[in-house]
Amino acid sequence: SFRSRRNLPEKRKIRDVKKVVAVSSAKGGVGKSTIAVNLALSFARRGIKTGILDTDIFGPSIPTLLNLSGEPRLDENNCLVPLTNYGLKSMSMGYLLPQTQADSTTGELPMDTTPISWRGLMVTKAMHQLLHSVSWGPLDVLVLDLPPGTGDVQLTINQEVIIDGSVIVTTPQDIALRDAVRGIGMFQRMDVPVLGMVRNMAFFACPQCGHQSRIFSHGDSPHVHDETHGVVAECKRLGVDFLGDIPLDARVCEDADRGMPTVVSEESVERSARRQAFLDVA
Ligand code: ADP
Repeated sequence: SFRSRRNLPEKRKIRDVKKVVAVSSAKGGVGKSTIAVNLALSFARRGIKTGILDTDIFGPSIPTLLNLSGEPRLDENNCLVPLTNYGLKSMSMGYLLPQTQADSTTGELPMDTTPISWRGLMVTKAMHQLLHSVSWGPLDVLVLDLPPGTGDVQLTINQEVIIDGSVIVTTPQDIALRDAVRGIGMFQRMDVPVLGMVRNMAFFACPQCGHQSRIFSHGDSPHVHDETHGVVAECKRLGVDFLGDIPLDARVCEDADRGMPTVVSEESVERSARRQAFLDVA
């Protein structure tokens, strides 16, 4: 076949995992990891056996989001044992590669003296380990936090493992949406079903008066219920499901920073609206 002639590895199922759901964004900083971790925690809360695999090479954020660190141990089959918090198993590049840490007193970053070619090899090896040598135990769902973009890394991951569905994260801005549409195209070309789009930072809910402003609504209509433009309209045009809105809320960011994502942050009536937004998407 074409595949073997090109000497490409066979696409494999990730061992012990029923379904792999990739969370992806065309751009960095739109909240992909925040959505991925809250989705995974929403599944776990429903009693679904869930794991999250962070394949972001240059900016792994799952360790911080789940308040986990340290080197994973190897089991008797030489497979990495996931680190667990809030009932969610996790594995991340951040646990495998030495992370550049700023000096605690000066705040300066140390000079990276590792030769680039050697770094490339380490990354390739670590990626292989992440995709094929993690002892997930039986999982119903593995959420794959993909690196941002629609390039070679995403293609390579798709060539190595079977992805059962993808979730595209976007913000309401025109440019973000245009890139998200490109992302949908990539998954469709790779024959990965697109489960739908999530609109993050959809509106700002004023903590004082509760008024909702659609502050990023370039393409989207400023009226919350008029969906003739923007993300929802684009979903309709492409025949992709619209999975829901996540509000722009400083506390979503605070929850993330202290390693206690919104879905598992402490219960209170006041907090429940934004938690519900994540649960609804799941
Ligand atoms: P990405 O994975 O796309 O690079 P992150 O999930 O790391 O993005 O989010 C980028 C920053 O934005 C983080 O500081 C995160 O806490 C913050 N953030 C993400 N979503 C929201 C939201 N809905 N409200 C407020 N802050 C958010």
